[in-house]
Amino acid sequence: MEALARGVVHGTAGNMSLRDLESGLIAISPSGIPYPALTPADIVIVNDLGEVVDGRRKPSSETPLHSMVMRARPHIRAIVHTHSHYATVVSCIRPYLPPILTEVCLVVGARVPVTRYGLTGTPDFGESVMEALEPDSRAVILKNHGLVCFGDSFDAALGIAEIVEEAARVYVHALAANGGREPDLVPEELIPEMAERFRRTYGQAAAANEAMAPRAG
Ligand SMILES: [Zn+2]
Repeated sequence: MEALARGVVHGTAGNMSLRDLESGLIAISPSGIPYPALTPADIVIVNDLGEVVDGRRKPSSETPLHSMVMRARPHIRAIVHTHSHYATVVSCIRPYLPPILTEVCLVVGARVPVTRYGLTGTPDFGESVMEALEPDSRAVILKNHGLVCFGDSFDAALGIAEIVEEAARVYVHALAANGGREPDLVPEELIPEMAERFRRTYGQAAAANEAMAPRAG
């Protein structure tokens, strides 16, 4: 419902999952039920092979994608898959979303890869994502399809889905405003250092710690 309210998903498009780290079980959205009609009883519980453990509904048709990624990346807790418009536009014209928005470079990385075309609803779809997935990937754009984001919480994955879509939107508009030529990008060589500084200093706790730390020099 939060994803719907924030405009990240619409209709019955997209699907999402959350893993309980203790049991390893995955709560996943059901197949083909409009978000506003969903109740907690409609959520399906599957294991990491995508087999239904509990629930009266059929799990998302993209369950193989979720279970495959969760098996391969034990640190991932939440997956949000959307049909975000501008990310899909990028998937049709580029092999990756280039570094266009500073915030995305800091949180997600310099490039958000685009998969090869994967056969939706089959393990091939999951495999196409696995081929594009780096050890610390937070987002992958799905060719002619949408976006999939990973997080250590549902909120984190949802936030990544929002900022990657925003970056794709800026990129498409910048391309159009620039007559189809590649717009100015964030210099890739600056990103690792910027991201490191961001991790060290961003947020209240870090700022408070820094303020209390003795000044150097
Ligand atoms: Zn989809």
